[in-house]
Amino acid sequence: MSTAKGKVYLVGAGPGHPELITLKAVGLIRKADLVVYDYLVPAEHLEYARPESEKIYVGKKAGCHSLPQEKINRLLVEKASEGKVVVRLKGGDPFVFGRGGEEALALVEAGIPFEVVPGVTAGVAVPAFAGIPVTQRGITSTVAFITGHEDPEKETSGIDWRHLAGGIGTLVFYMGAGRLGKIAADLISHGADPGTPVAVIQRGTTQQQRTVTGTLADIESRVREAKLAPPAIIVVGRVVSLREKLNWFESKPLFGRKVIVTRAREQASDFSSLLRELGAVVLQMPTIRIGESPEPRALKLAIENLDQYDWIVFTSANAVKKLIEQLHKEGRDVRALGKARLCAIGPATAAALQSSGLLVDLVPESYVAESVVECLRARGELSGKIILLPRAEKARKLLPQALRELGAEVTEIALYTTQLEKPENLEEVRKELAAGRIDVVTFTSSSTVENFISLIGKEEALCLAGKTVFASIGPVTSETASRYGLKVDIMPEAYTIEALAEAICSYFSGRS
Ligand code: SAH
Repeated sequence: MSTAKGKVYLVGAGPGHPELITLKAVGLIRKADLVVYDYLVPAEHLEYARPESEKIYVGKKAGCHSLPQEKINRLLVEKASEGKVVVRLKGGDPFVFGRGGEEALALVEAGIPFEVVPGVTAGVAVPAFAGIPVTQRGITSTVAFITGHEDPEKETSGIDWRHLAGGIGTLVFYMGAGRLGKIAADLISHGADPGTPVAVIQRGTTQQQRTVTGTLADIESRVREAKLAPPAIIVVGRVVSLREKLNWFESKPLFGRKVIVTRAREQASDFSSLLRELGAVVLQMPTIRIGESPEPRALKLAIENLDQYDWIVFTSANAVKKLIEQLHKEGRDVRALGKARLCAIGPATAAALQSSGLLVDLVPESYVAESVVECLRARGELSGKIILLPRAEKARKLLPQALRELGAEVTEIALYTTQLEKPENLEEVRKELAAGRIDVVTFTSSSTVENFISLIGKEEALCLAGKTVFASIGPVTSETASRYGLKVDIMPEAYTIEALAEAICSYFSGRS
């Protein structure tokens, strides 16, 4: 018999935003043997779980009912009795309209130890993301959380409508979207001013957030017109008016814009989070896979002789990563670079070197190969110098050629290959593109352009003109795009992903 003691953690998963979850919750999901989760728990949270841990969904499926509460209770008791660490993950806060209390009582009855991890509840977080503070000095000092889901057939309401209508500053209804008209009518008939401001917020804190405002008198028709759907929070009260000034989330520069990121999976996350931070909905479509060096022998030789080079010129963060990896594979570290000076083509490459403990000797003014040549020449660092160019296979010839013409001895080494990746979501991406639902396709290198074209098809890509906008990181990538007939509308002045993201924002600023 197992001596391990099982335990159940009733854990709040927050309102939907992947980062609005507590540290405690993340730690518990990581160590759980079993995660029992609901509808409205963001999928991202489950990625914290160990691959071998069990995950059981007990929420509603479209059209079906959720697992009955007694069955859930039994499941928790049973699994904990087997000695398992069970995380019962519930949307928002487990004790706010979440039946967490019922589950806790069942655990007590069965003698199962439990803990509660509160979560960020929708009733507070969702209004906050709509620019509505639920209390505000000078406006209201009371707030009530109410279920809008009370059985409509119930003869006598468990809700004291008269009291709510007359005495409480802010009313926050959960699960009320389907009964909005009735709620508004009940409040008015119990004395509330029909002109009281109301906001209905759908899928708050996520990129699907939509908000409709009105008054008790007209909110139902406005919401119907806007076709808002559950899950939604209803906020009633004068605080709703603060949204006019405080609407920070939905006014982000890329809010609601759909952007495709075509970089390799390993490189996509920084750019994607930057875009998400600006409000965009990001669709990752990795078109490139980074493969092993096609010339391992030459690479090994170059690594053995690293300290003989005057300069090592890095033209991507990937090259830095791959070179360091290779060094480690050979049982060596950055000391192998000896006296070699280091050039990085741009700030991201410089940052990659820095995170390996290496300071950069040169970053050119403009982040392209031509500028590298110019800067080295200006410093008198070319004639007779020995230069190593560790980079991708089939990289542009311009750099080595120009360096050689100016008297340098150049060794090129292919550290990695960029291969065509077939993204899993290709069909979805195609559909979205064809339907004109993508605002921007981003290219961060020539190979992303080439691979995008071969994945989507030349003809299809050309048909996208007018439906979507192409954004390119710099002139070389733009040139590749125009060779295929794609018109690039967005290109930053500095060739970095930060500048690219900013350029996308400026492009859309002022457009509706
Ligand atoms: N325990 C949860 C509430 C569960 S009841 C909590 O503390 O938040 C489910 C209701 O919560 C939904 O019907 C809806 O009214 C509200 N809700 C949850 N997430 C929401 C979201 N992202 N946007 C709007 N409403 C949400």
